[in-house]
Amino acid sequence: MPKVVSRSAVSSSTDAQPTASSAAALRVYYCICGEFILVIDKSLATLPRRKTDNAIIVRSQDTDAGKARVFKLNAVAEEPILLERRRLGGHEKQYRYHCPRCSLKIGYQTSPPPVKSAPFLYIFSGALTQMQGQVPQNAFDGENDM
Ligand SMILES: [Zn+2]
Repeated sequence: MPKVVSRSAVSSSTDAQPTASSAAALRVYYCICGEFILVIDKSLATLPRRKTDNAIIVRSQDTDAGKARVFKLNAVAEEPILLERRRLGGHEKQYRYHCPRCSLKIGYQTSPPPVKSAPFLYIFSGALTQMQGQVPQNAFDGENDM
């Protein structure tokens, strides 16, 4: 029986590049222990960072300066701590959140829980990863997808 060679070979598509529409997709972030922590409408790599501690700034309330990000945080609130912020000329109270599974510190806000009670939520640099079960690489540096 002769071999049948299909001429309609499927073109091996290598153009599976992310499209502009993927920018609107929700991003999911995990703790390094694999626990789901955050779902957000924008890549953390593209968000601004605090000068004080390099934490990622997630806007959680609408203001004149901008619209709040759409996100959900899965983390456990801790007792507040007081930090000295010389740059800001005083002290800052931080209500920190940690991973429900391994207690790794995820981030903080400056007012008591619930999440979004403060204008911003801050995510510690390098605390989260988009790859479940993988250690964050260079705290998202080099990631430039919008
Ligand atoms: Zn964890």
